[in-house]
Formats: sequence, structure tokens, C-alpha cells
Amino acid sequence: MASTNNEDLFKNIISHAKEYGFIFQSSEIYDGLSAVYDYGQNGAELKKNIRDYWWKAMVQMNENIVGIDASIFMHPTTWKASGHVDAFNDPLVDNKDSKKRYRADVLIEEHVAKIEGKINKEVEKARTRFADGFNEYTFRTTNARVLENQKKIDDINLRFKAALEANDLVEVRQIIIDLEIVCPISGTRNWTDVRQFNLMFSTQVGSVSEESSTIYLRPETAQGIFVNFLNVQKTGRMKIPFGIAQTGKAFRNEIVARQFIFRMREFEQMEMQYFIKPGTEMEWYKYWKETRMKWHRSLGFPESKHRFHDHLKLAHYANAACDIEFEFPFGFKELEGIHSRTDFDLGNHEKFSGKKLQYFDPELDQSYVPYVLETSIGLDRMFLAILSQAYAEEKLEDGSERVVLRIPFFLAPVKCAILPLVKKDGLPEKAREIMNRLRFDHLCQYEEKDSIGKRYRRQDAIGTPFCITIDHQTLEDNTVTIRHRDSMLQERININEIEKILGEKVSMRNALMQISE
Ligand code: ATP
Repeated sequence: MASTNNEDLFKNIISHAKEYGFIFQSSEIYDGLSAVYDYGQNGAELKKNIRDYWWKAMVQMNENIVGIDASIFMHPTTWKASGHVDAFNDPLVDNKDSKKRYRADVLIEEHVAKIEGKINKEVEKARTRFADGFNEYTFRTTNARVLENQKKIDDINLRFKAALEANDLVEVRQIIIDLEIVCPISGTRNWTDVRQFNLMFSTQVGSVSEESSTIYLRPETAQGIFVNFLNVQKTGRMKIPFGIAQTGKAFRNEIVARQFIFRMREFEQMEMQYFIKPGTEMEWYKYWKETRMKWHRSLGFPESKHRFHDHLKLAHYANAACDIEFEFPFGFKELEGIHSRTDFDLGNHEKFSGKKLQYFDPELDQSYVPYVLETSIGLDRMFLAILSQAYAEEKLEDGSERVVLRIPFFLAPVKCAILPLVKKDGLPEKAREIMNRLRFDHLCQYEEKDSIGKRYRRQDAIGTPFCITIDHQTLEDNTVTIRHRDSMLQERININEIEKILGEKVSMRNALMQISE
């Protein structure tokens, strides 16, 4: 069914993801487990390709960045040192009537987003009214209604920031009351006190209870990098500045787990910690903001889809932080974080472990605890960004409809479909011959069932960039039809050209060249 608004669109994307083997609810036969998802045959490929692209952009393209693979379980003191045992909390609040639980900060942020929405509506109305003569900057800085709403936003942000910094949960509740925020389910303002809730999952190691000790499932991959800082620096003979990259699972007992794979309890992160000389952090902060934005833009999505958002309240470890936000069907939300973490982590691991975690700088002839610049992105969120941007419902000239995933070619799960026009006359054999040549380099799919039109639609729906059709003419002159996913154009080419065309069009190389310019 065609989507008429963003809510519909998002629903359709979710059902498409299931219908075409991208994402399933975890343990679905038992009615699922909330905020946990499984990747199906096409989802696993897309996810792997995104991970590869990140890894290559970080590790392969930078001589001074190396990758590691640390364990999920870590010594429990790690999480004392990192601050997670004491400070990895979300403020939560319950509505007494609906019994629904919310993150207090999210309630306030959503309220602010609504006011922002009002401002944007004013701007759009004025743009239509004034047409070519419209100056957005002047309008935003002079229009009375816009200024009034902007002041409301600034006041809320100021008050909220102060409350968070003072860890004043009574005041956070009072802000919710004063803003007259209601529970979307019950519609009432009957709120409990705001409480802090630790997001780490814990479990036991050791079989006998007296010997066992509590350990945590890591809530971020970064700490595996910090505790290995010296191992990598020494064995890799790394010189500052250098980076350590890692991808892997992280776990958070999220209070509000909504919006499909946007917020999960088990998810995957792709993180890079860049070790630098103290005092150079602002320079590197700027560099990594730009570099990471380039990576996102290299996917060819409209520029307006991404924006930076500076953090209002800095985390306990940061002296500068921002997010790269993406416009999901449910609005602009965090996709990646870029944080200047100072020497907080290494310094604390020194304190808690009693081991020196310092770098001897031959230029300065002295040792110091390096500062760290972090880039941290959720692989699942990136997957959702790509899926929602790629998903398109199209009306074709002949009146029919198609759903196509316009995934960047190099990330597509299947790169090429090999389709014999009919299941006889030697066409399947010829098709298999082609398949056998291509599969050494690309994931290809052989399909002979149903009409060619239906097979094209199925490939469009999973984002396959090219379809190769083998017909009777192929047997005579060694040519095939290549069909392009986005334009649906078909051309006749020689069989010997297929490998070259695919090699150029679906290679990750083009995107990597773009980000290294
Ligand atoms: P949020 O404010 O959305 O909870 P965060 O600021 O806690 O996110 P970070 O700790 O900075 O997130 O984690 C880095 C990245 O990991 C995020 O930008 C996001 O892409 C991803 N991420 C964090 N939590 C989740 C989650 N529960 N599910 C999926 N991805 C997540």
C-alpha cells in the first residue's frame, strides 16, 4: 500500500524489511523479545557491507589507524573506572495512569522539537508567500512569532541543562509539569518522581556461587580499546597521533525501546578512538567532524538529510561533543557521536589498575597520558538510515507500481541477478556459466522461476543494482541484456563486458576515493 505520510512510510519500511529477509523480530515464534532483532539473509549482507565500508574507510585508508577485536566481557573494574557503574543512567519517569515509562530527557526534547516544528512551519509559509524575495536568515531573526518560539526553546534548554548538570531530578520533574507535557497514552500529567536507572546488564561468571563475581555486558565497545591502548601502541610501534578502531556488540537495558532498530537492547557499534597530544583536541575534533560527515555524504543521499547537533550537556568524560543527526522518517535523530574525551578514560584506568598508560613522546622527550578523540556510530542505526533513505514506492509510466531499494550499489546485498528468460533450450546452462564466472567477485543470485517482470520486481525490492537476462539471442551472438535498477533501462552487451561493468559500478573503491579527496 502506498504511503501517504511519514508514519505510514515507516510502517511500510518495517514490513518491507521483514517481507524481503532483511530484519525479523527476535524469537518471533515466541512472540518476540522487545527491542531485539535478527538480521535475515539480505539484512546480514547489507549490514556486513556497511561494516566493511566503515572499516576500510578507517583502517585501510589511514596508515595510522589499526583495528582490534576485544571481548564483550571485561574485568568488572573496567566499568568502575569508566564511570559506567556510577553514572551510566537515564532519568526515567512513569505516568501513573497509563503505567507507561518514559525517559524524562526525551519527553522534554520532544516538546522542544514540537516548538521547532512550529518555527519551521512559519518559515515555510513565508517562503511560499514571498517566493524569490525570501531571505530565511532575515525572517528567522526578525519575525515576532519565530523569535517568541525561539526564546521559549532557549529558556527550556537553559533550565534543563542546569537541572541535568546539578543532577537535580526534582527540577527535571518540575520542568515536565511546567511545560504541561502529557503522556501520549493516557493524556494526563500524573507523573511519578524522576529516578535514575542504570543501563548496564549484569551477569555472573564462575560456576560456584561463592566464587562467582558480577560482570557486565559491555555498554560500549570503546573500553576494550582503552585497556588495550599500550598493547597496540607497543606491538604496532604506533606514534601519536594514531587510532584504534573496533566494531562489535554492545548492550544497554534501554527504558524506552521504540522505533524499530533505532534503539535496541543489543546492538552493534563501530568506534574509533584517536590518541592525540593534549592541547590538540579541538583541531582533531574539527578534523573528525568533517571527515565523518564526508563519509556519510559519500553515500550520495541529499545533503539536507544530515546535520550536526552540539551537545547541550557534556557527558562526564567530554570537553566537546556533537552528534551527526540523520533525518529518519520520524525526524532528525542521532546517528553518530563525535566526542573529545580528554584523558578521562586512560587517566582513570591508570588510577584503578595502578598501571601506567602513558606515551613517551620522542619529540617532547617526555611521557604523558594521551587525549582521545572518539567517533562512535551505531551500525544498526546506519542500517536504518540507509534502508529508510533507499526505500521508494514508484508509480511507473504504464500505471503499475514498484518498490525499489535505491541502496548505493557497493552496499547492496546482491550485486547481480542472473536470469534465464525461459527454463529450457539451454538458457539455464548458459546462465549458470555466467554465474560461475561472476561469483568469485560478487554475490550473485540465479533465478529462473516466474515471468521476467516479476523477477525484476523481486530484485528491485532487495536493491540489486543489475539484472542480466539470458535469451535465445545469447546462444547465437554471446550477448545478454543488462537491466539497471534505478533507470530500469535495458541494454544489450557482450557477455565478456559483464565483469568489467560490474567491477567498476559495484566497487567500494569509488566511494573510498571520494572520501580521501
Ligand atoms: P542516545 O542518545 O540515542 O541514547 P547515546 O548518546 O547514548 O545515544 P552513544 O553512547 O554516543 O549514544 O553511542 C554511540 C552510538 O551508538 C549512537 O550514536 C548510536 O548510533 C548507537 N547507539 C547507542 N545506543 C543505541 C541503541 N540502544 N540501539 C542502537 N544503537 C545505539
